[in-house]
Amino acid sequence: MMSGPMTLVRRLTGPEREQWLHATFEGHRAFVVASPAALRRVGLRGPLPGTMATFSDFTPNPSTVQAREAARERERHGAELVVGIGGGSAMDVAKAAAALPADPGRAADVLARRARPDASGPRLVLVPTTAGTGSEVTCFATLYEHTRKLSLDDARCRADEACIDPELLRGCPPHVLWCGALDTVAHAIESLWSMRSDPTSRHSAVAALEQIAPVLADARRAATVPGRDALSRAGTLAGRAIDRTRTTAAHALAYPLTAHLGLAHGLACAVNLRWLVGVVACPAPDTVLDPRGPAAPRGAVDAAARALGVDGPEGVAHLVDAVLARCRPPSTTLARAALLLDCLVEEGLASERVGGTPVALTREQVRMAMGDSLVGLLGYRGKASA
Ligand SMILES: [Zn+2]
Repeated sequence: MMSGPMTLVRRLTGPEREQWLHATFEGHRAFVVASPAALRRVGLRGPLPGTMATFSDFTPNPSTVQAREAARERERHGAELVVGIGGGSAMDVAKAAAALPADPGRAADVLARRARPDASGPRLVLVPTTAGTGSEVTCFATLYEHTRKLSLDDARCRADEACIDPELLRGCPPHVLWCGALDTVAHAIESLWSMRSDPTSRHSAVAALEQIAPVLADARRAATVPGRDALSRAGTLAGRAIDRTRTTAAHALAYPLTAHLGLAHGLACAVNLRWLVGVVACPAPDTVLDPRGPAAPRGAVDAAARALGVDGPEGVAHLVDAVLARCRPPSTTLARAALLLDCLVEEGLASERVGGTPVALTREQVRMAMGDSLVGLLGYRGKASA
């Protein structure tokens, strides 16, 4: 399931991380994808070395236009090293800058999966300043073309090296922290129940949930050194798990929620995870797609509940709800969500990520469950089908 070597992950804090970063740049033409704030956070202040170009022209949920521009800039600069510093969006753009050809036509072919990225390319180094995406160890990047999600999925998108400093989470806004935690939980649980799971992926996924469980149970831990360490370790472990399996329906159905309603990624995943847990744990016999039989998805949810220290699928759903309550409520309205519900379901079910889901989902079932979940999240008591 996995192609190419795994990412070498270093865990370095403070001055050690700054030293490593400067040594990484030494003697290379580097192309750095980062916002000015992210550069300051990792200690790259003042005039940057002459051989280093920075690219900060990207937004949250970056577009294919921004990704292609980054690839062109990287080529123009003749960079042999691409360094992504920041949150999930910086990671995604850095991966695209490393993997996409500079030529716009060839880049479009790669994005449309008519061609593969060049086998050789610049070295890719990632320094995440948030935890949860697991992007530092996965071989995919998420980009948006208008409201359509595109996934670059290639070994060229897997970093050669990543540097994790959990202390960079200090000062991370709480809603960013908790959305990242929900993303980690979704990655781990979806990887566990994925039809592509194997002993290695399941081991990483369970370890991720065991790491993050105490922080989910007691929010105060997120403000401590061990709490930040656990969040970042769990994010990387869950990233290792989905690197082997990919995500499933909770993610597939989340992308349109982000594209159309602006819901933060981890929150959008949790909106679907909270109801999918029950569906996957207790599927109707004729809906099980996993060739290993109904015991496999049920066992996966049981394993997730055990690792999280909660009781069965209901316990998992309650825990997800408790963490959702710590996230900043989205500014979008349910009226808008209700108007778009058919389109959200249609686009979500059309995503290739549905492929690993161990049970068959019907359009009507998803429409009802996602509608109910959005009603709960957005606090609107009107008719979701209005
Ligand atoms: Zn995710």
